[in-house]
Amino acid sequence: MHIAVGDLLRQEVSAETPLGVRVAEYMTRGELVPDGLIIDALTPRLVAAEGFILDGFPRTLAQAQTADEAIALDVVVHLDVREQELRRRLLARAALEGRADDTPDVIARRLRVYADATAPLIELYRERGQLVEIDGEQAVEAITDQVLALAQQALSPSAG
Ligand code: AMP
Repeated sequence: MHIAVGDLLRQEVSAETPLGVRVAEYMTRGELVPDGLIIDALTPRLVAAEGFILDGFPRTLAQAQTADEAIALDVVVHLDVREQELRRRLLARAALEGRADDTPDVIARRLRVYADATAPLIELYRERGQLVEIDGEQAVEAITDQVLALAQQALSPSAG
């Protein structure tokens, strides 16, 4: 199962649920949604799932601590892409999907938030030996194959 936290939140926003109303402004500004709201949104989904690829979580140290207590991640994947290429992709997506946070100003803020709050987690998971780095500038299919192989390996370690 693929659980993308950003997708979950966008569904809440478009359905105008109480959670959606609370998170919308953070998302439009390109800021992180407070950890407590993220954890509340995620917990019921994780309890229901038997194995999952969690996309866009953890994004802060507090979320990583929650993951330690509640989930025990098997492997952490870092998709590595240069900033210039990230900007190019997000602007291309803006033309296709019209996401409110794919504008130059908000992209700049999201990259700053990533550098401040999320990038430090890479070192944390590397030190623990849990990190797998994947070149995120390869073809989509190649990246998908590598991520699925890791997930398969985590589900049945002896098979790999
Ligand atoms: P994404 O779809 O991954 O680009 O996420 C879009 C937006 O959703 C982010 O800019 C944040 O506002 C919010 N968001 C997604 N995942 C998280 C998370 N783990 N913690 C806090 N905010 C998040």
